[in-house]
Amino acid sequence: MPPAGHFINGSFVPGSSGQSIDVVDPATEQVIASVQAGTADDVDVAVAAAVVAQKTWGATTPKERADVLNLIATIIEQNRQAFEAIESANTGKPRAVSEDDVSSTIDTFRFMAGASRTLTSMAGGDYATDHTSVILREPVGVVGVITPWNYPLLMAAWKIAPILAAGNSIVIKPSEQTPLSTLKLVEVLAGRIPDGILNVVTGRGRTVGQRLSEHPDIALVALTGSVVSGQAVAETAAKSVKRVHLELGGKAPVVVFPDADLRAAAAGVRNAGFWNAGQDCGAACRVLVHESVAEEFTEHLVREVSTLVIGAPDAGDDVEIGPMISLPHYERVKESLAEARAAGHDVAIGGSTMEGPGYFIEPTVISNVPAGAHIATHEIFGPVVTVETFSSTEEAVTRANESPYGLSASVWTRDSSLSLRIPKQLDFGTVWVNAHLVLACEVPWGGFKGSGYGRDLSLYALDDYSRTKHVMINHGA
Ligand code: NAD
Repeated sequence: MPPAGHFINGSFVPGSSGQSIDVVDPATEQVIASVQAGTADDVDVAVAAAVVAQKTWGATTPKERADVLNLIATIIEQNRQAFEAIESANTGKPRAVSEDDVSSTIDTFRFMAGASRTLTSMAGGDYATDHTSVILREPVGVVGVITPWNYPLLMAAWKIAPILAAGNSIVIKPSEQTPLSTLKLVEVLAGRIPDGILNVVTGRGRTVGQRLSEHPDIALVALTGSVVSGQAVAETAAKSVKRVHLELGGKAPVVVFPDADLRAAAAGVRNAGFWNAGQDCGAACRVLVHESVAEEFTEHLVREVSTLVIGAPDAGDDVEIGPMISLPHYERVKESLAEARAAGHDVAIGGSTMEGPGYFIEPTVISNVPAGAHIATHEIFGPVVTVETFSSTEEAVTRANESPYGLSASVWTRDSSLSLRIPKQLDFGTVWVNAHLVLACEVPWGGFKGSGYGRDLSLYALDDYSRTKHVMINHGA
């Protein structure tokens, strides 16, 4: 376990409140650590360190920053087993999912190391014979980062890597439920990267997150989390006209046309609907299938889901589904299932909680869900997939877009015309065709509508964490 303190200016320091927050393993319900309950004062100390460090870091060359990011990737690689063990202990996720998270984390740092060297601006220009414009790309300064509990290390990497690559410094607040891998990260990086460019303050959203959102020396605050938290951050940040980057919730529709390979679509939903126990903002959780093939598709899906292996991370290498992150979240998912039963929806498979210890819920498919049903429109964030039917292409598009979210969607068809036409009509930041949840560091990730704004990954993330300056030179003077 990493030390329990805030990490400020290269060292672990005690918090000012003297209070701590217990960290629970949701697969065993045991307390496995406790961390500092940070305060606004703790944030202020961290921001002061970040302001100083950014001045030097922001003046480094892209190559120097790339060297540091590559070093971070190497150090994580050298400690990968520790990261995998901590991530599984803190979230209950299967070892295979933690392994995937750590691999993607390493790849994110390596990608952003290279990307930092592409930081150029659009061309300036010559105006008359004696005026020339230069466009500069600059760091924004100190960035406040707030991360969620579902992929604690990976979501931290999606922010830290591009923010450092663009020459900024960071104060990051991990989720109070899953702070351990972020603390481990700074523990292994201490003394190996410049002091003060990456600071961690642990604690709750309404204290530490709130202060990050309002601090006058923070230029931009980036949050991955729920819509409610995003709204709170944006509202607070508006008072200091701070830039905001929001990756919020999702409810991804999976549109299955009658010509689709139904077995492949069902296998795709098995993987992408239940990965990380469905606690994924892009989870394939809302199937819209053409009425002519709905029965056949649902049979395939139920067969696929019946093979999922549930358990604690130490229950074996074949475990694919872990617990819900916490007791309150488990209760919320349970309540959604009870509501679905009360509404008379068909539970095709699953639908129950499992005997403890641990906050386990059976992988569930709810079929014949009517249009607009609550279970198919609000984010459940658990191992629950709903199936609705449609009768025309127009209806499929309209219904898919009838969502407050706009993060991701998928379309399943063998018709090349539909595979080009339908993604253009869908109001989502990512649309997969005959795939779901496939990501790469080269491609942007982010939402429309209630899913927020700003992009993680890709060169677009570097844009989000830089600012553009125009210099007009009168060289005839
Ligand atoms: P959450 O909103 O409860 O918490 C996220 C972070 O925000 C935590 O660190 C929390 O302490 C902090 N926070 C809470 N209230 C705050 C406030 N008022 N001010 C500042 N910070 C505050 O979300 P969660 O339960 O940890 O994560 C699940 C949510 O995250 C889901 O809605 C999911 O869809 C979303 N998510 C989105 C993406 C994406 O890429 N779009 C990725 C992962 C998770």
